[in-house]
Amino acid sequence: MASQHHKYIFVVGGVMSGVGKGIASSSIGTLLQAKGFEVNLAKVDPYLNVDAGTMNPTEHGEVFVLNSGLETDQDMGNYERFLNRDLSGTDYMTSGMIYKHVIDKERALGYHGKCVEAVPQIRDEIVRRYEHSAKINKSDISVIEIGGTVGDYQNIMFIEAARVLKIRHPDDVIFVMVSYLPIPAKIGEMKSRPTQHAVSQLASYGVYTDIIIARSERVVDARRKEKIAIACNIPAENVVSAPDIESVYDVPLNFERDKLGDIILKSLKLKQKNNAASVAGLSAWKKFAEGVKHVNKEVHIAIVGKYFTTGDFVLTDAYLSVLEAIKYSAYKLGVKPVIHTVNARDYESTKPNYKALTKFDGLLVPGGFGETGIEGKLNVIRYARENKIPYFGLCYGMQLMTIEFARNVLGMKDANTAEINPKAQDVVIDIMPDKKKKLEEGNFGGSMRLGSYPSKLKEGTLARRAYGASLVHERHRHRYEVNPAYVEKIQAAGLVFSGTSPDGRLMEIAELPQGTGTGEHPFFLGTQFHPEFLARPLNPHPLFTEFIKVASQKVKKSVKK
Ligand code: GLN
Repeated sequence: MASQHHKYIFVVGGVMSGVGKGIASSSIGTLLQAKGFEVNLAKVDPYLNVDAGTMNPTEHGEVFVLNSGLETDQDMGNYERFLNRDLSGTDYMTSGMIYKHVIDKERALGYHGKCVEAVPQIRDEIVRRYEHSAKINKSDISVIEIGGTVGDYQNIMFIEAARVLKIRHPDDVIFVMVSYLPIPAKIGEMKSRPTQHAVSQLASYGVYTDIIIARSERVVDARRKEKIAIACNIPAENVVSAPDIESVYDVPLNFERDKLGDIILKSLKLKQKNNAASVAGLSAWKKFAEGVKHVNKEVHIAIVGKYFTTGDFVLTDAYLSVLEAIKYSAYKLGVKPVIHTVNARDYESTKPNYKALTKFDGLLVPGGFGETGIEGKLNVIRYARENKIPYFGLCYGMQLMTIEFARNVLGMKDANTAEINPKAQDVVIDIMPDKKKKLEEGNFGGSMRLGSYPSKLKEGTLARRAYGASLVHERHRHRYEVNPAYVEKIQAAGLVFSGTSPDGRLMEIAELPQGTGTGEHPFFLGTQFHPEFLARPLNPHPLFTEFIKVASQKVKKSVKK
């Protein structure tokens, strides 16, 4: 029976990059899940970097961390958010990872003296990983997005490996091309020729497109669908129109309207399953996507970070998961999130414009590295603490709030993190001992404390109330930690470490007691981990929800005045 076989859907890009291949792949996942299938999504990145940890986030986008600790491309974040499930480390691979594995194996005589080449050894290693990922996930269907565009030199081997899988399992592998149909302003007509070329380029590799997702500014009309279908050798119904839309969360619903789910099942010779997931269908997702549109009151949140401009554009992808996490909690509370960027460097002068901060309902300092903008962030945190503006610190944002507290409440004027000044009088944030050794060896890749670790939460604290649990698991990515030598002093002065590692050694959450009295604050909390990596549309993160809740209460108050 066909449905017993594992199925593979390879998603490739045609014409150009940046047209939403990641969201298209994620949405295919959401659709198939709603038809009752277990789905895993995987990303193939053609980079020679062994993982995404060493890639510059302002160039490549945010580094997303999985439970396993693997540092991946931000698309993995989209996948987890759209599937509402954790993905495994086998769901991400780079060219670097594959080559390193094959070369290490060759060095260890793993090929028994054979001549080792890209074909077959590299190709077969990729095939092995495609199959392994399916097995680990115990899924029915793997949706595998091949990074880059058809015609790139870098991704050929991944496409070649997919071709081999198709030869082995002709009924179980299909290819979806996410392509782009431009409407040149001077011509005013939607052009399908570049897509036809992309399809024929793919065919020159021996790989035939089954379905085309036609991205464009506008809806692709029947005439063009027909034209593409004839030129590309597929039924017209297999050309799915994907026009630009307001909200990415509508993509699965639009795909469903164009029957993409059924088209995929037909191509894979599958029948919709009859189980709880298929009965629920897309209803939970629909409710969420509708909710996004029915928010009224605004909540203004500023992300105080490092921002880089390229020409007229500000790059914000580096904080993608944070932006998403804020949105999900705001939607859950029925408020409209308006997210602002505050450049930390603007708060480094001797007379920063603090008044500009009062228009925000909440301030957030996200994760980061190095010295840029640090003093500015510290100034903003002090302002938030003293003026009782809700503040949420993520990783570096928690370390900096501890430094700010040490400097301005405990009077340790020189307090700092070893990351910036290891010779400071009070190194309140210090390097983790095992990480120090790695850095001394020049070993930067994968050298942080990475992935999911448990934290136990203190009774009666804000964190404990927000989570409604005493033990939580969160994802980490850091090298430095609160120096254990300062924990007692800091706590005695009023900053509570409400979350710690189960052995009590590592400080995971810092907070001021929630309230309006002296030494209290409506929301002043930081986490050593990255809660944003676990925030999902259908499952917003409790700490973000509490932060937005308090921030929007402030909105209410100011409206009354
Ligand atoms: N730079 C800090 C550290 O390595 C914080 C890292 C982060 O914010 N992800 O500990």
